[in-house]
Amino acid sequence: TERTLVLIKPDGVARRHVGEILSRIERKGLNIVALELRTATEEVAGAHYAEHEGKPFYPGLIEFITGSPLVAAVLEGPRAIAAFRQLAGGTDPVEKAVPGSIRGDLGLDAGENLVHGSDSVESAEREIALWFPELASV
Ligand code: ATP
Repeated sequence: TERTLVLIKPDGVARRHVGEILSRIERKGLNIVALELRTATEEVAGAHYAEHEGKPFYPGLIEFITGSPLVAAVLEGPRAIAAFRQLAGGTDPVEKAVPGSIRGDLGLDAGENLVHGSDSVESAEREIALWFPELASV
């Protein structure tokens, strides 16, 4: 079994898609082991997106992520990391995400793309420790 860190980004909360997205997660069979509505601090957002620092979209991304409440969650299940990324669809909701996925069905914008999911076991460990330090395994 695996754990993954998922965010329902501020656009997903503002557009009232929290129930829809959690419903898709539950229908897939993933377990929710942590779930909280919160406003991300600059510190947590900066650490979460450290790999994108210096890119042209970075300042806007941090402003967006910290600008209004999001839902942070930890999901657990067999191949949870890949399973959630399949539910989410590709980063660009129009060019990459297929219909049937969260982004493919609900999104238009490459930046405000509704959800985040960890992309590897290493990222999941790092991100769970960042968002839910009380759940971190090491
Ligand atoms: P996430 O890490 O949120 O799951 P991802 O792994 O699909 O997304 P990354 O390439 O890691 O995609 O980009 C992280 C986030 O940065 C994207 O989800 C999006 O919010 C934002 N982003 C990425 N590329 C762009 C872009 N070209 N313009 C605006 N925002 C972008």
